[in-house]
Amino acid sequence: MLANALTFDVEDWYMGIEIGIARWGEFERRLGVGLERARRLLDRAGARATFFVLGRCAELHPDLVRRIAEAGHEIGTHGFAHDKVYDLTPEAFEEDLTRSLALLRELTGQPVRGYRAPYFSITARSTWALPILARHGIAYDSSIYPGWNYRYGIEGSPERPYLVGESRMPEFPVSLGKLGGRLKFGLGGAYFRILPYEVTRHFIRRLNDAGQPAMFYSHPWELDPDQPRVAFPRRRAALTHYFRLHTTEPRFSRLLSDFRFTTAAEVLEGLGLLRAGVDQPAS
Ligand SMILES: [Zn+2]
Repeated sequence: MLANALTFDVEDWYMGIEIGIARWGEFERRLGVGLERARRLLDRAGARATFFVLGRCAELHPDLVRRIAEAGHEIGTHGFAHDKVYDLTPEAFEEDLTRSLALLRELTGQPVRGYRAPYFSITARSTWALPILARHGIAYDSSIYPGWNYRYGIEGSPERPYLVGESRMPEFPVSLGKLGGRLKFGLGGAYFRILPYEVTRHFIRRLNDAGQPAMFYSHPWELDPDQPRVAFPRRRAALTHYFRLHTTEPRFSRLLSDFRFTTAAEVLEGLGLLRAGVDQPAS
């Protein structure tokens, strides 16, 4: 069976809702609830996944992150403070990246090969980030959403793994589903809960039947239906964030039995698309 990539953006429930890092201390820390559920689900299914860990989470929960790495999963980086890349200067981006990389490399003793931007925020305005990633030993990126969203996406960019422009950075975009030929959505995240499970299954099957691996994404907090409810800076984001969170875990069980999943790095390696010679020493 063809292997698909399963990825988790590792952040606590309040870190990805556009509340700045200065206020994160106000909220209940519950990363372990969803992250341990994810680890157990994968363990039961004998599947591997890539965890793009936010540097701040590695700082707050080193044992949780180490446990994921020790279970044989891939640790990638989601940056440090969850700022959108296109809101940062290249200098600030590089500082955020290196801070996260240093923490993750020390914690796991492993190279960190994958990067996923907060809010998929590598867009036409921020492709300058790709050579910076390469300079810091990143072997692939998974941040360019191949559609349009109100805060991210490069419409018309490839929907399968490819090398980006002059940087030649391998990109493994999130796979898309399409409804009525017009509405595109990323496979994973809120749409995994909003639409019937069969819709996700249909689009992964279609890709696999065409010999293409799917890229699926989720977050630990999507496996934590009991997380606190707060007012969001953007109301629209709150609607999807909390929508039917109790469905995530049973749907994951089905997904993991219907398809084969492994790390993004392993899938890219199989396609001959992982940047070679970038194994970094654990610093
Ligand atoms: Zn995130």
